[in-house]
Amino acid sequence: MSLSPYKAKRDFGTTNEPSHGNDAPAAIFAIHEHAATSHHFDFRLAIDGVLKSWVVPKGPSTNPEEKRLAILTEDHPLAYKDFEGNIPKGEYGAGTVLVWDYGTYRNLRDVSMHQAFNDGQIEVALKGEKLTGGYALLHAKLGGDEQNWLLIKMDDAAADARRHPVRTEPRSVRSGKTIHEIANE
Ligand code: MN
Repeated sequence: MSLSPYKAKRDFGTTNEPSHGNDAPAAIFAIHEHAATSHHFDFRLAIDGVLKSWVVPKGPSTNPEEKRLAILTEDHPLAYKDFEGNIPKGEYGAGTVLVWDYGTYRNLRDVSMHQAFNDGQIEVALKGEKLTGGYALLHAKLGGDEQNWLLIKMDDAAADARRHPVRTEPRSVRSGKTIHEIANE
């Protein structure tokens, strides 16, 4: 099963992350800010009943000129969309997780999301609270690394080179809290 690597890395007696839960609607996305050993964002898209997940070190941009490295990581359960809190020390991914954005998406390609993922060419229109419009995920394999994709804002009405939401819109769309407020809970 696709969630086996996710489960193998975690002790669900210790962490509050969901151990299961696939009862969310199909076309959802989530972006988590994750203050772990290295600070990063996790971009997650529901495909084939799991959240396909990429680590985006710099977070998403609204500028089509800025290509963001997106490193494919293990699938997460759909219920992870709503996860926010502190992963205990010693656990995989230990640190603070904030729901930076979430919502639904629409497939912009005329192939299935399954096929788009396998092609290494995903194009979706996001309908989140911070991010809207087209985003492409391309399997660029930078440096020959199979895990390396690129996350790129598509050039549409929602594109905006002057907006820097990762910096200017730090609060959780779920709780309204900052990452420091969550860390201190
Ligand atoms: Mn992460």
